[in-house]
Amino acid sequence: MAARAVVLLSGGLDSATTLAVAREEGYACHALSFDYGQRHARELESAKQVAASQGVARHLTLRLDLRAIGGSALTADMAVPKGRSDEAIGEGIPVTYVPARNTIFLSHALAWAEVLGAQDIFLGVNVLDSSGYPDCRPEFIAAFERLANLATRAGVDGTSRFRVHTPLIALSKAQIVARAHELGVDLALTWSCYEPQPDGRACGLCDSCLLRKKGFAEARLDDPVPSAH
Ligand SMILES: [Zn+2]
Repeated sequence: MAARAVVLLSGGLDSATTLAVAREEGYACHALSFDYGQRHARELESAKQVAASQGVARHLTLRLDLRAIGGSALTADMAVPKGRSDEAIGEGIPVTYVPARNTIFLSHALAWAEVLGAQDIFLGVNVLDSSGYPDCRPEFIAAFERLANLATRAGVDGTSRFRVHTPLIALSKAQIVARAHELGVDLALTWSCYEPQPDGRACGLCDSCLLRKKGFAEARLDDPVPSAH
């Protein structure tokens, strides 16, 4: 029987590619998404479609009310930055940072992994073409992996040695697009935009849209997802 893995699946380009990598490595993938009160809940529709198209063993969507905590342009009434330059995106931590989001997500993934008897958790973070979120860095991932093995019964009694896999962490957005293409990921199903337009298109101007555009342009591929700009 194939080893099980829990794959965090937002429905975006990076998580869809990470899921395809985990499948290629032979894992029986258990995809985990969060309905956390995000402004761009549209991504959950994509997560469902991506999970179905890649034939996961199970797809679970957990509800968490991070809007009650707020503190981010994605979960509170704050404007999403638009039209920023590459340099501006590369500097500092923007208001689209959701406080401790990957710690929260990984904690749930770890709980599910322990119940499933899975030792492997996949997360599609990357540092090169990213918004500079602190919980996407390799130091954070290594620290969480240590915590996972201290915090669980399976870690302490030695039945599991948890690993957090971040196969995209050192790739550029263009390399991620190319890898997705190579693995046959249906990118038309993915959703990256923080501010979906009323007509269903991506905004084309938020940091996430701009990073995605740069990736497709540099990979010399067309983005199948329609964009307003
Ligand atoms: Zn956008």
